[in-house]
Amino acid sequence: KGASPNRNGQYELDAAVMNGSNRKAGAVAALCGYRSPVRVAEAVMNETPHVMLVGEGAASFAKAQKMKRVKHPEKYYQPSVKVPMSDGELQHGTVGAVVLDNEGRLAAATSTGGLLNKTPGRVGDSPILGAGTWADERVAVSCTGQGEFFMRTATAADVSARLRYGRMKLTNATKGALDDMAYLGGEGGMIAIDCLGRVSMAFNTEGMKRGSLSAGGEPVVATRV
Ligand code: ASP
Repeated sequence: KGASPNRNGQYELDAAVMNGSNRKAGAVAALCGYRSPVRVAEAVMNETPHVMLVGEGAASFAKAQKMKRVKHPEKYYQPSVKVPMSDGELQHGTVGAVVLDNEGRLAAATSTGGLLNKTPGRVGDSPILGAGTWADERVAVSCTGQGEFFMRTATAADVSARLRYGRMKLTNATKGALDDMAYLGGEGGMIAIDCLGRVSMAFNTEGMKRGSLSAGGEPVVATRV
């Protein structure tokens, strides 16, 4: 339910979902007024020939799909952060999930309100395939952090490229992609799972709320290092 308002006090949400087994994907950006942007993204994937819808077009589509609405955004959304940080620092709050099923299929999804006080119309990395969200036959990745940097380094797809061309271990691939993004000055993290079920959750921030669960295993939950 968390989301941060933009500079005009509106909640513009971005989301994407990608199925690694067939590379089908759906995304929405700057969507206002709907409870689950990622469900709308899923409907874009399943019900249209397109990959991404934005703004009013995304909202009309969500309406036509009879998606659940948010009638009173100021009451419904609970900001992930309430007090703006000092100038120049970007605040963010995103939720992502990556999964591997028992037939070896991978998928990733990411949903966000973006950065607190963002410029209206600003779209981050979360709905951009390859930047904040990616799934293929090797790996599923969902990122969080300062989206502009993730877009400039295609971070999520970079993890897959490192596995494919560099034949790296997953932990080295996520660290390498994160380091490249951090080299530009960005902060954030990512969760990733590969086709053998190995999990990596890398970040260069003070903490990142994260968890993992495998069939028959105990859930693992962590906030800081
Ligand atoms: N990456 C998101 C964005 O830039 C924000 C976040 O991860 O919290 O929109």
